Amino acid sequence: MTMTTAATAGQTKYVIDPPRLAALPVRGTDALFPVRRIYCVGRNYAAHAIEMGHDPNKEPPFFFQKNPDNIILSGAPFPYPPKTSDVHFEIEMVVALGKGGKDIPVEQALDHIFGYGVGLDMTRRDLQGEAKELRRPWEVGKAFEASAPCTELVRASEIGHPDHGAIWLDVNGERKQTGDLNQLIWKVPEMISYLSGLFELAPGDIIMSGTPAGVGAIRPGDVMHGFVEGVGELHTPVV
Ligand code: MN
Repeated sequence: MTMTTAATAGQTKYVIDPPRLAALPVRGTDALFPVRRIYCVGRNYAAHAIEMGHDPNKEPPFFFQKNPDNIILSGAPFPYPPKTSDVHFEIEMVVALGKGGKDIPVEQALDHIFGYGVGLDMTRRDLQGEAKELRRPWEVGKAFEASAPCTELVRASEIGHPDHGAIWLDVNGERKQTGDLNQLIWKVPEMISYLSGLFELAPGDIIMSGTPAGVGAIRPGDVMHGFVEGVGELHTPVV
């Protein structure tokens, strides 16, 4: 039995065309950041946990995933998805890993970060709510087409590791979500450390770090404008 390796990938034949690798632009270079997995942290700002009906003080972090091919780039239209009438925005800082590992200590976690971006964890809230109620998985609410709009990444070597600063989202010029990165319940190093105990992390993994309060619904024709201080700005029209 032979194993296919990266070295022989050029000669590898597939029975169907292989899927395109999801990737994000990186500021200051024409090279792309390839995305392996998308992890998302749930209820990571106290005010958002409260607005969703939970006690922010009692919960360890929890995670769910989106698919890398759910990414659309900032500027691209977000097509209003099917089977829902309640699609919500969640503005989040995106953490991109350049180095993997398991059981990463909190003190070493920042060394694993390649850079940061601004993303939206778009959510079919009605389908997510139904899934919660029926104790079913969340994919139908979270991991649908175009559900992960994202900006280019900025390298940590360029901007450092943001641990405070404004995060907000406007819809049609009206402020809907506001928060500060210093309000994260599980800080970035803690979330990486915790996540690496559950999964073996790898270069190319990105983490959506949670959303501040103020989530709400969008409609076709709306324009979402997100911001994370020191990281970037995202523009996503809904069609
Ligand atoms: Mn979220």
